[in-house]
Amino acid sequence: MYKTAVYPGSFDPITYGHLDLIKRSLCIFDRIVVAVAANRKKPYLFSQEERVKIIKKILKVEEGIDEERVDVVGLKGLLVKYVESIDSKVIIRGLRAVSDFEYELQLATTNRMLNPDIETIFMMTAEKYSFLSSTIVKEISRLGGDVSGMVHPIVADELLKIHSRGEDNENIM
Ligand code: ADP
Repeated sequence: MYKTAVYPGSFDPITYGHLDLIKRSLCIFDRIVVAVAANRKKPYLFSQEERVKIIKKILKVEEGIDEERVDVVGLKGLLVKYVESIDSKVIIRGLRAVSDFEYELQLATTNRMLNPDIETIFMMTAEKYSFLSSTIVKEISRLGGDVSGMVHPIVADELLKIHSRGEDNENIM
């Protein structure tokens, strides 16, 4: 019944945890739209345009993902409005630890208030990525650590480019 699902998030940057969720969602839905947010309150490392570009680049080469079945869009305005506009009824979100729960519940409840026809579905993180977040990746990379097990090489390269510009050089995590 639900052919297209929208997977919204910051993806600043996209990690193997996100990619795993996209792969698993494709086993349930025909099409996934990765909707890249632009929240004014968040100081993103990568611009919305860069984040969209990086995800598209990865989807082209990543094994186990049928690129034809995934769209990547930059989100403008309300998520539920976007979901409505493409005739989808499903939002996918990931859950890692209990700490994700409260925020996700608030978000899902708000979205249901805005449009009761749209359902948020949660997928549990793959165990090996349960510790993984974009924030952790950015911190490790900023401090010169190896992020190769956490993000696609395309992301690792982009992070290197940013940090080699020497914006941050603090040594504590
Ligand atoms: P947001 O700022 O909207 O939380 P994120 O890019 O941090 O954006 O996360 C997008 C979604 O992906 C969220 O539902 C988050 O819980 C989920 N997610 C992030 N990292 C992982 C991971 N390692 N495993 C599973 N889900 C994850």
